[in-house]
Amino acid sequence: MPKRDPAPGPLATVQAFVNTVDLEDGPELLADAEALRTWLAGAALLDGDAAVGAAEHARAIALREALRDVLSGDDAAIERVNEASERARLRPVLLRDGGSALEPAAGGVDGALGRLVAIVHGAVADGTWAHLKACERDICRYAFYDHSKNHSGRWCDMDVCGAKEKSARAYRRRRARQS
Ligand SMILES: [Zn+2]
Repeated sequence: MPKRDPAPGPLATVQAFVNTVDLEDGPELLADAEALRTWLAGAALLDGDAAVGAAEHARAIALREALRDVLSGDDAAIERVNEASERARLRPVLLRDGGSALEPAAGGVDGALGRLVAIVHGAVADGTWAHLKACERDICRYAFYDHSKNHSGRWCDMDVCGAKEKSARAYRRRRARQS
């Protein structure tokens, strides 16, 4: 089975942000401030010549992991995502095309992180956010988009994480019987 298709529309950018690290095998694409600037600029969230320091880098990683925790169903992490909105000073603006959007009043990395959170708000509104999940296998926690109709997906890849999780459970059951 191929890897799941990415999330639709701009939510794919949030998914890609959460997946900038492979927790199981590496690599860490946001290893330092320079790497963060390159990634955010590549995603059209930040000017390529914006200043990015260690504090901004730490806030970006904190938001990334807060989003992963929210995708894992950890409601306590929601407050950390909301802090990023506040820091970005997200505010609703009317657009000339008749729509509305959340836009950051802050610039730089805080503004870029605010744009990611604004995408999350848009996805909540259009119902796609509920389909973005973190893989349930502890050491993976990769963000995947559950395209299944009944929202039953639990692993980023059934053949990899699903199979490993099932064999680990079977192993634990065997151990439990032996002891
Ligand atoms: Zn996985």
